[in-house]
Amino acid sequence: MSFSTQLMKNNYHTHMYLCRHAIGDVEDYVLEAIRLGFDSLGMSDHAPFFELQDRSIRMYPEDLSLYLEKCDACIKKYKNQIIVYKALEIEYFPDHKQKYVDLLKELDYLALGQHYIIEADSPNGLRSSYKLFTKQQITTYVDMVIEAMHSGYFKFVCHPDLFLYNVTRMDSIIMEESRRLIRNARETNTPLEINVNGIRKGSRVTDDGLRFLYPRLEFWQIVKTEKARVIISSDAHQPNYLYDEAVQSAYKFAREIGIEVEEALQI
Ligand SMILES: [Zn+2]
Ligand SMILES: [Zn+2]
Repeated sequence: MSFSTQLMKNNYHTHMYLCRHAIGDVEDYVLEAIRLGFDSLGMSDHAPFFELQDRSIRMYPEDLSLYLEKCDACIKKYKNQIIVYKALEIEYFPDHKQKYVDLLKELDYLALGQHYIIEADSPNGLRSSYKLFTKQQITTYVDMVIEAMHSGYFKFVCHPDLFLYNVTRMDSIIMEESRRLIRNARETNTPLEINVNGIRKGSRVTDDGLRFLYPRLEFWQIVKTEKARVIISSDAHQPNYLYDEAVQSAYKFAREIGIEVEEALQI
């Protein structure tokens, strides 16, 4: 692969081993980004959250300081070769506002990854965004993402179309809920992310044909018509995924819809 044809120069969504489902240390990702000739690399591992029970999918609270130290060490060590940002991917829960304020004192940014919605009658009051089936659940997801975008805590929205994971048919209500999310992204000037990890996870046949699990074509067609801001993120969970074939598929996906992708964010 030659650098002149490389599409990505900045990636703002990167994980590392402390979340328990990624491999590689911060330095491994930074070295890979330098090798690729990136201008910047944003580390954004899954933030610890006491409320979220499944400890296999995110950093332990006691590991946060180690993560920050690792980021700081690379920021310093490689400052003449690449800009490294220190960030976290995190859910928005309205009663945790102080947590975001506190984290932002230490971090360059927060990326919204709304993997859960609040659902009062669920066992722990939460429901996975991969398991949304009813219109009410979908509306709750959209409401929470909209509130998050208006809060001003988040630099961009990771995989905003995750709520469509179980939607096999994009009916008019789902299309309108998608549009509502997208319009609020435009109003709040919040970039929406085409997430490459959804492409790595593969495709499936829906009522509308063969589709990536995410990004969901119909959603991004609305993004195009509503003129919301768009970035592409690798969402790498291993260093060699930073710029792989799936990243190139994402650029092709955007190009075919006619979406203009922003290459660098103001951090
Ligand atoms: Zn992850
Ligand atoms: Zn992620």
